[in-house]
Amino acid sequence: MIRPGKMIREVLESLFRKAATTKYPLVKAVMPDKFRGRLRFYPERCIGCKMCMRDCPSNAIIIRKVGEKNFEAEIDLAKCIYCAQCVDSCPKKALESTKEFELAGLDHEKLKVVFSAETKDAVETKA
Ligand code: SF4
Ligand code: SF4
Repeated sequence: MIRPGKMIREVLESLFRKAATTKYPLVKAVMPDKFRGRLRFYPERCIGCKMCMRDCPSNAIIIRKVGEKNFEAEIDLAKCIYCAQCVDSCPKKALESTKEFELAGLDHEKLKVVFSAETKDAVETKA
């Protein structure tokens, strides 16, 4: 049983202790190096083996052939559980986890992103 005297001392001490919480979103949060956030795809490295698709536990990634040796990736950020299994499975390091984590949105369609072989960047698209 907690004695009132001890409890009051705890409360008073906590007033002068550094806060354990952060000031996010007022202060931007800095994610650790191995953080698994939004995926990035490098089409120039992809060989179309589809190991990422095979190993994804939530069917969140689709690799499409768009040219002789060109592939694009469609990633459903709403389905993705950010496990980075696809990053580990890719033999060509064509996928990478970034530190980006502010991905919430009201429109599911906008959470389906395509990394096009032409632009080498994510383009919001309707699947
Ligand atoms: S595992 Fe890598 S190389 Fe293979 S299809 Fe996926 S992204 Fe491309
Ligand atoms: S991070 Fe996990 S859930 Fe997301 S696409 Fe890769 S394997 Fe699938």
